[in-house]
Amino acid sequence: MKILVINAGSSSLKYQLFSMKSELVMAKGICERIGIPGSVIKHTAGENDPVIIEKEMKTHADAIHLVLSALTDKDIGVIADMSEIQAVGHRVVHGGDYFSSSVIIDADVKKAIEKCIDLAPLHNPPNLIGINACEAIMPNVPQVAVFDTAFHQTMPPSAFMYAIPHELYTKYKIRKYGFHGTSHKYVAYRAAKMLGKPIQELKIITLHLGNGSSVAAVKRGKSVDTSMGFTPLAGVVMGTRSGVIDPAIIKFLMQKENMTVDEVDNMLNKKSGVLGVSGISSDFRDLCKAAEDGNDRANLALDMFVASVKKYIGGYAMIMGGVDAIVFTAGIGENTASIRESITKDAEFLGIIIDKDKNNSARGIEMDVSGAGARVATLVIPTNEELMIAKETEFLTRK
Ligand code: AMP
Repeated sequence: MKILVINAGSSSLKYQLFSMKSELVMAKGICERIGIPGSVIKHTAGENDPVIIEKEMKTHADAIHLVLSALTDKDIGVIADMSEIQAVGHRVVHGGDYFSSSVIIDADVKKAIEKCIDLAPLHNPPNLIGINACEAIMPNVPQVAVFDTAFHQTMPPSAFMYAIPHELYTKYKIRKYGFHGTSHKYVAYRAAKMLGKPIQELKIITLHLGNGSSVAAVKRGKSVDTSMGFTPLAGVVMGTRSGVIDPAIIKFLMQKENMTVDEVDNMLNKKSGVLGVSGISSDFRDLCKAAEDGNDRANLALDMFVASVKKYIGGYAMIMGGVDAIVFTAGIGENTASIRESITKDAEFLGIIIDKDKNNSARGIEMDVSGAGARVATLVIPTNEELMIAKETEFLTRK
């Protein structure tokens, strides 16, 4: 079965074509600057070098047409005809409390995705545009929506409710939704596989540490708490996002700095996190280098990031009544050994001990980096949200 996975952003569209039998990526690419002069598509077939095609893409529908032409092209393509694509899986950021799993898209599903636009104004509209464009071009091919929020719908009310007047929940659905669900689910299931145990027997803390970071408590295969909240601004310190701060700071800043609410929101989302603290970069490669060179604010930013992640590990061990494994994933989690070492430092009391040599050699590959005497497994697992989307799409469309 061949499945096309689409991740549509406001001016970009990422795609991967999977052959599900071998879980092989046949081709992948990204369309950039959709609706902006100078649009390009970067297409990679199998192991070949990427090909850059400069072509006007006024709309997402133009982009999908170009993707299909690239996939079926006699030189750079990987399939003879687009009828070989048996299903399309779409990443959809917000499913609100409508969706606790992936679904085959119909008119009602699209209406519900539309109702969640208020909750994800930057993401859900382009996700819907991508769905509509695919439906128009491939009307007989089933389309599946895979939500970033769905995996966390198993959280109990004690985890997802905020301690604000209850009417605000009933009126506006203000609650914790959580994000990166596809990634947390993927790595939690891989962790169970690596440990050779049924996921129903495990308590796992998954650490998705990238430009956006979140931590999840996965008990018996279900998310029971996660660090992001109503929006992806909450939780740990991130690349440019503040994570948890005292909400009173917002009013204070609006008064003292004469800022509008949008300006404060922009500052918290784009100018905060390790970028704001260090004044250097949101990229951990730059920060680690600056810290090594003795830059105090880079060191402070990294220490704050590490401390914020540690607090969730400790908290979630308590919430689950123990922990069997912690999993590092995403850009930082998969690649930055020094951050993994700092996060797991002084955690022997919890049973977390890493083997420094193994940890130093784990980079972008699945690896158990636990040390001698560890009671909790420490695993490095590269995330693969696209494969997870393809698998969910295959599961639903084969039924
Ligand atoms: P992500 O959002 O998952 O792509 O993660 C981006 C973050 O991962 C950035 O802060 C990068 O500095 C960090 N990172 C560290 N090492 C690497 C690497 N080898 N490749 C990609 N990202 C890396």
